[in-house]
Amino acid sequence: MSALLPLLQARLRAEGPMTVAEYMMLCLQHPQHGYYTTRDPLGVAGDFTTAPEISQMFGEVLGLCLGQCWLDQGRPARLVLAELGPGRGTLMADALRALRGVPGFLDAAELHLVESSQHLRAAQASRLQGAAPVWHDGLDTLPEAPLYLLANEFFDALPVRQFLRDGAGWRERVIGLREDQLVFGLTEATPQAVLEPRLADTQDGDLVERCAPAEALTGEIGRRIAEHGGAALIVDYGSDRSLGDTLQAVRAHAKVPVLAVPGQADLTAHVDFGALARAAAPACASGAVPQGVFLERLGITQRAQALARRLDGAALQSHIAAHRRLTHPDEMGRLFKVLGLHPRSAPPPPGLTE
Ligand code: SAH
Repeated sequence: MSALLPLLQARLRAEGPMTVAEYMMLCLQHPQHGYYTTRDPLGVAGDFTTAPEISQMFGEVLGLCLGQCWLDQGRPARLVLAELGPGRGTLMADALRALRGVPGFLDAAELHLVESSQHLRAAQASRLQGAAPVWHDGLDTLPEAPLYLLANEFFDALPVRQFLRDGAGWRERVIGLREDQLVFGLTEATPQAVLEPRLADTQDGDLVERCAPAEALTGEIGRRIAEHGGAALIVDYGSDRSLGDTLQAVRAHAKVPVLAVPGQADLTAHVDFGALARAAAPACASGAVPQGVFLERLGITQRAQALARRLDGAALQSHIAAHRRLTHPDEMGRLFKVLGLHPRSAPPPPGLTE
């Protein structure tokens, strides 16, 4: 039984239907019953497994990519190394280990983590002991300095609104109550100024999603990178423009209906990389490049071969499977994309140019 359901029902009775974004926000971040507030969702025993939890190679490659950006930008003496939604801290731990091979980087770096979950902050603290991380609720409190930022499977967890095209207007998809059951509904069609450009590339009946918090965060990252230098690598599932309903709920590694167990399943939507790239201006965007292509360009196969020399038996088989899972187009290689942000004065992060 979902502890959040009675609260949602009471709110819908009192205030009427809510947007998909409000539903996502309550399910994921409710202070007592939110999905991220109440658990560590990652890993085999959890609900989903992310790339850094599959293999150390993922964090190593991303870390070295940021290291190369720092070298390309003349090795600024002070930098903010930041991650959005660091999960268990695995990606950052692997990146930091690889960055020991870039002389001077770690001496210049201060580690800053943006994380809403107290559970995961505790996991990050134990994993990243010695790196003295500072935690934040958002980006605003980060020091103003060259910013080298990672975000893996963070943006998909931010709340989206959904709009169905109806003539020159849009009907918003909302959640209401019918006989105490949560049900989807649609508002009347109204014009939406921010969706004006989408009238050119959609038809009647098409659904588009918009993630305002993702655009606001990327705008802030872009401002900092344009002003102080740095680079960002944003990795997630999604495409160059939003089209169609991508809202999904996942529990125990299986999809469940979006309205079935509020607060007890992960809720995500695909990332609109085109919208993020535009929001990042005046910083420059490169990509989004498929994850498999990006990792191959940066030498994941050579790294995999080097690690394989020390393995045999089941450990070797699982290492080979992990490499395939991260890179193969039928696994995470094509659906997941990497978007890079960099200042106009510097080259794009390696692996992201066509
Ligand atoms: N990057 C990690 C974890 C991905 S899960 C990995 O790849 O394994 C999403 C992460 O983002 C979790 O750490 C979650 O607690 C955090 N998160 C989700 N929404 C957030 C928000 N609005 N503000 C800050 N952190 C958030």
